[in-house]
Amino acid sequence: MKNFDLIIIGAGRASNLAAKAGKMGKKVAIIEKSKLGGTCPNRGCVPSKLLIGYAHVARAIKESDRHFIDSSINSINVEKIFEETNNYVSKIDPVYKKKFNENVEVIYGTGKFVSNNIISVNGEQLTAPKIVIATGTKAIEAPHPKAWTSDNIFPLKGTIPKSITIVGSGFIACELANFFAAVGIQTKLLVRSQRILGNEDSDISAIFKEEFVKNVDILFDTSIDKIEYKDKQFNLELLNKDNQKTHHTSQALLYATGRESNTNSLDLQNTDIEVNDRGYIKRDKFFETKAKGVYVVGDASGEHMLQHAAAQEVNHLGKILLEDEKEPLKFKYMPHGVFTEPEIASVGITEQKAKEQGISYVTSITPWLASAKAMSTRLKYPRTKLIINPNTYEILGCHMIGPESTTMMHQVLAVMHLDNDIRHLKEMLYIHPALSEALLPAAVESVKAVEDYNKDK
Ligand SMILES: Cc1cc2nc3c(=O)[nH]c(=O)nc-3n(C[C@H](O)[C@H](O)[C@H](O)COP(=O)(O)OP(=O)(O)OC[C@H]3O[C@@H](n4cnc5c(N)ncnc54)[C@H](O)[C@@H]3O)c2cc1C
Repeated sequence: MKNFDLIIIGAGRASNLAAKAGKMGKKVAIIEKSKLGGTCPNRGCVPSKLLIGYAHVARAIKESDRHFIDSSINSINVEKIFEETNNYVSKIDPVYKKKFNENVEVIYGTGKFVSNNIISVNGEQLTAPKIVIATGTKAIEAPHPKAWTSDNIFPLKGTIPKSITIVGSGFIACELANFFAAVGIQTKLLVRSQRILGNEDSDISAIFKEEFVKNVDILFDTSIDKIEYKDKQFNLELLNKDNQKTHHTSQALLYATGRESNTNSLDLQNTDIEVNDRGYIKRDKFFETKAKGVYVVGDASGEHMLQHAAAQEVNHLGKILLEDEKEPLKFKYMPHGVFTEPEIASVGITEQKAKEQGISYVTSITPWLASAKAMSTRLKYPRTKLIINPNTYEILGCHMIGPESTTMMHQVLAVMHLDNDIRHLKEMLYIHPALSEALLPAAVESVKAVEDYNKDK
């Protein structure tokens, strides 16, 4: 039996905790069954966003006639795009390894619980007073062995397909469809219902749908009934809601139909650790599971499924375990982005949720065109939707659709972080006529909506 001060299972965001504990002189074992760095840099946020840059340039050229510029693309070297992305991904594991000092032992293998405080990996047993589970999630398996998921598309190896069918309606499906379509790969997105990005505020997802169908060929109310792979091609039988069947072929097939818990690899039945009905590990407000001294952070808890949330949780757990932090982590807000064209940024509740919860709220939905910089994009759809508590002026939700909305959102986040009151966004000074200035009329309208609400009371 090998003894450590800390064992970490899963080297995604929790790599930072291993590095910190090692620097503080703790003896740490970090167990990883795949690559150090985990999902985000190897097959998640980073490679998918690196691709967006190429898509963005290709689309700007294709749409240049909006600015009265006649241009065309001669060729796109998609092989090179993937080579560059793969180069990045191939450096991740060694870069992460360099973060660790001699106190950290990296063990490649699948960690499993033998009991509450004993882990087995590669036939060896390890123990520590503190064990951290940070095993993330995995893509829901594709129903055909030749089909990809977002877990095995990166690094994209071999011949680049000339055509791809993508199944899904969430942000991963949309981001990848956006890229493939933009760089000239014949792309078809299959969406089971009429809803796309269904978790977004419904006003925003309606605008998204209207614009996105201009960029990507989408079949709504459609699923795959039969898959055959022959002569390096998928022959798909598609079924729509009226039970009509059609045939479609493509060289590649990608399923982006969701992610699920990774916990089945952990042999949790040997412990007191409990999982919820979706298979995610239950924890208390200090991240501790039902087994004393065993903690869970990041996607493995099934709570936020976002890199920035996982990173903050890992950081806070480090303070609890290594610096005697006594306070639990409370996220004041949880933003996210969808890096497609159009781009979306969102924080807080949607109007649907506000209705469901029966809370008092007012809304405003404001075009960006008051900003000359926004006008210069010659796009008419960009909007900011605000959902405000009319009794306190608190921003309950903000949803934006438009270029750089994920960047624009940070000024709303700063207000929410410091002193959440929409009036700050109305009163602050903006650089004229920056894109961010589009938030000024949005703030003015929502403050007016609050005043009207209170006048009518
Ligand atoms: C395509 C895609 C795009 C994304 N884009 C974004 C984005 O733009 N913004 C954003 O905020 N989030 C994004 N995410 C989500 C983000 O990647 C995750 O929220 C984040 O990586 C979670 O970190 P984690 O450390 O909890 O888990 P992970 O990074 O998944 O790390 C878990 C690690 O545990 C390992 N592991 C699992 N079981 C075992 C075991 N039994 N033994 C040993 N090792 C094990 C896994 O191999 C993995 O390396 C994206 C995800 C995907 C798939």
